[in-house]
Amino acid sequence: MGEEMLESHDHDTSMEMETFSNYLKKKGLKITTQRMLVAEKIFSLHTHFTAESLQEELKDRRDEISKATIYRILSIMVEAGLLKEHNFGKDYKYYEHIIGHEHHDHIICVECGRIVEFIDEKIEELQKKAARENGFSITGHDLNIFGICDSPKTCEYNNK
Ligand SMILES: [Zn+2]
Ligand SMILES: [Zn+2]
Ligand SMILES: [Zn+2]
Repeated sequence: MGEEMLESHDHDTSMEMETFSNYLKKKGLKITTQRMLVAEKIFSLHTHFTAESLQEELKDRRDEISKATIYRILSIMVEAGLLKEHNFGKDYKYYEHIIGHEHHDHIICVECGRIVEFIDEKIEELQKKAARENGFSITGHDLNIFGICDSPKTCEYNNK
């Protein structure tokens, strides 16, 4: 199901890039070549990534992009509401972009780190109901389920 969602992405990043540069302008932040390069890479990734894996993706460039630059852009994008930060039970964060990506929940394998996206309307409804009954209007939620892959075939950890 997760893969199905990933495939539905539009691979043209111009809309995202424009939103990002408008945000930088609005905030009086510099629009540098490096920032634009990292942003372009982020918007072309249709997966959950970490600062580490993003730096890996950008490694083949002649002028190396520092971790500091990457962290700075990630935090600007989270602030701008372009990127969602996930805590998947590791001591580092995962990211995925929001534009063109509908709300979904996650199941994470604690052994191999496989991430599956899912959406279940009944679960969504029950959360709204719980909030309502406790006197809240929901502004957002994160649902991460942790577990271990059932099948050794799909679990990278079990294949090692
Ligand atoms: Zn949800
Ligand atoms: Zn996701
Ligand atoms: Zn697994």
